[in-house]
Amino acid sequence: MNELRIYPDPVLRDKAKLVEDFDSERLDYITKIMKKVIEEQEAVGLAAPQIGVLERIVVVNVDNEPMELINPEIVEYKGKDTIEEGCLSLPGVEIPIERPNFVIVKGFNADGEKKIIEASDLLAKVFQHEIDHLNGVLIIDKLSPIDRVKFDIDWKGGEYEKKHPSTVL
Ligand code: ZN
Repeated sequence: MNELRIYPDPVLRDKAKLVEDFDSERLDYITKIMKKVIEEQEAVGLAAPQIGVLERIVVVNVDNEPMELINPEIVEYKGKDTIEEGCLSLPGVEIPIERPNFVIVKGFNADGEKKIIEASDLLAKVFQHEIDHLNGVLIIDKLSPIDRVKFDIDWKGGEYEKKHPSTVL
């Protein structure tokens, strides 16, 4: 289960299911593995489908304190700016993406306690990127059609294997 799923693994395209059982050994185990992967990969975020678990669980790690959010839902968006986003499931790929730079996210921790988080800047981007994963959406989907064609050619040609993104989500 702790194996990192890499594009084009089909699990990355499925829609993740809502978590119904909180405060369980199983959920603790999943979030523990996700935090371990985040630490090992020095990532700022991870979504459960990226380790093959099709459930609505994300872990964010902007202040070096990994935090899980279960069944996350964005209830408010504000502002807009562009940062280069990388992704653990697309090694070497970095794409400039415009998104709101402030969000309010609702969800639960692994114990089932309700959380409301106001996130700005990088953290706001990480939540949006990870929630996209729960809906089967990847950063390459944000490319223009012509850039997507170029991506497909470069990906198949192994061009991205040589690069190292700075911000992996
Ligand atoms: Zn990602």
